[in-house]
Amino acid sequence: MKDLLSLTPPELRVELESHLRERGEPSYRADQIRKWVYESGVGTFEEMTNLPTEEREALAEVYRIECPETETVSRSEDGTVKHLWRMRDGELIESVLIPTAERLTLCISSQAGCAMGCTFCATGWGGFGRQLTAGEIVAQFRNARQWAEENDYGPIHNIVFMGMGEPLANRKALHPALTILNQGLGVGARRITVSTVGVVPGIRELAARPEQFGLALSLHSPVESLRAELIPLEKRHPLPELMDAVEAFVREGGRRVTFEYTMIRGINDAKELAPKLAELAHRVHAFVNLIPFNPIPYQDWQPSVPARVGHFRKVLEEAGISVAVREPRGRDIDAACGQLRANALVQLDAEPRPRATP
Ligand code: SAH
Ligand code: SF4
Repeated sequence: MKDLLSLTPPELRVELESHLRERGEPSYRADQIRKWVYESGVGTFEEMTNLPTEEREALAEVYRIECPETETVSRSEDGTVKHLWRMRDGELIESVLIPTAERLTLCISSQAGCAMGCTFCATGWGGFGRQLTAGEIVAQFRNARQWAEENDYGPIHNIVFMGMGEPLANRKALHPALTILNQGLGVGARRITVSTVGVVPGIRELAARPEQFGLALSLHSPVESLRAELIPLEKRHPLPELMDAVEAFVREGGRRVTFEYTMIRGINDAKELAPKLAELAHRVHAFVNLIPFNPIPYQDWQPSVPARVGHFRKVLEEAGISVAVREPRGRDIDAACGQLRANALVQLDAEPRPRATP
């Protein structure tokens, strides 16, 4: 059965118009259905109360609307909310709502698990499950929006692809999902950020799109050899190639790039790395997020001490780079960066999944 939420708005229009034409129904019904798909959170046609019963039944025979069930919802002391969604085949994925004083950000997943095997990331250790469909990516926003409305969290301002998975390793679903979120659900391109560990062909594809989606590059080291120890993909797309792609992305005009730098004590926080990081950031006018490492069950690594994080910040600021130190959010509910799903796997006694061999 075709999932209406996986279709881009133009595809949805063509699909609905032809369905309605065949059934001799007026074409304005397409708009009614479109509104239900994009503006509501309904998961069945039965709930589309402004359509005649026969039409609801006819739609349900050929179509469905992706609408994962809520497996659990956990609310942190700091207001962060983690949803664990159950997909139709039982796969579990997570999204996280992060409120700050000015805005509400939704962090979504692009894959069940991740094949990249980064050594500091719990999702990486959990291995790869499967790709998400465009509808499953969009549904996280649609369902979270519904939850936020019902729980007085207000409208979602930003979407970041920083949940489970590597979005640029699932471009087949990512590209339509971006279009649907932007044109269908009305989230401005500049309010959507795709975070990647460095999939170069994907960065180039994103650069070729006309919309100004934001890019976050998970850098974690300005030095190739150290980066390769943290991120297996570095061997396939080494830093010089990666920086060229990021530079091209920025050159396309008006685009923002952010570097994510997870600071791990004694691993990637040596003082001499700070000016090297500044140099790379300077080259592509990157905004730098320094993120103290969140401990994960698989490694005994610790976050950098605050003084060292402060040192990095100072060096970057003195080099004229915009920088922010990110507080870990939702730690008490395991919603912080890199922690997603690890605990669910533990709780559910799931079989460990194979990790990528780079
Ligand atoms: N795969 C993409 C997006 C998901 S990861 C990527 O890697 O960019 C989202 C962010 O969480 C990345 O910047 C990642 O490096 C960071 N992260 C992963 N594990 C972490 C940990 N244990 N502590 C802090 N940040 C972590
Ligand atoms: Fe995958 Fe990103 Fe985690 Fe690396 S950091 S394993 S790319 S989710």
